Amino acid sequence: MNDDIQKVLYSEQKIQDTCAELGKTLTTDYQDKQPLVICVLKGAVPFTADLIKRMNIYMDVDFIDVSSYKGGISSTGEVELVKDIDTDVSGRDVLFIDDIIDTGNTLEYLKDLLKNRGAKSIKICTLMDKPEARKVDAIKADYVGFDVPNEFLVGYGLDYQGKYRNLPYVGILKPEVYQR
Ligand code: 5GP
Ligand code: MG
Ligand code: MG
Repeated sequence: MNDDIQKVLYSEQKIQDTCAELGKTLTTDYQDKQPLVICVLKGAVPFTADLIKRMNIYMDVDFIDVSSYKGGISSTGEVELVKDIDTDVSGRDVLFIDDIIDTGNTLEYLKDLLKNRGAKSIKICTLMDKPEARKVDAIKADYVGFDVPNEFLVGYGLDYQGKYRNLPYVGILKPEVYQR
């Protein structure tokens, strides 16, 4: 599997250092809030697992899954709820954890959903942000690990056809992989 990677953009060490840094900031910001941390499946699983271990606070953790309809290669902007959380969010400080923000459609949908259910505050922590690809200008991450180039990335949660999520780093695939 490692042989399919052309270039490593963010090494395992660099990602771990970033998790430690973000975890420290979040520990301060959420000290007395006992946030509801929501992992956006499936891509945010590795990041959530590493990040929450760096947050020295009481928290609840839940999981949500959405899918965006892809019309060809680009997102149509329509988002569908695939798996809901089990937790009551009314009056809660919610922190979404996501792998990457691209168009912003997914997080716009998720923020609206929980706002309507009465969350007290809603913030977003993403490992990666692709500001150049944004279509929903109102969506900004409150905590960002890396601003990334507008390229197709895999690893550390990010997949190509369901694979490569288990790579411990983020990289770019060799062009021949797409021709298989
Ligand atoms: P958005 O709704 O912001 O356009 O979608 C974000 C989702 O698109 C991410 O959670 C991720 O699943 C997918 N995505 C965006 N950019 C990339 C990328 O470079 N590589 C991969 N594998 N998935 C991406
Ligand atoms: Mg995602
Ligand atoms: Mg995907």
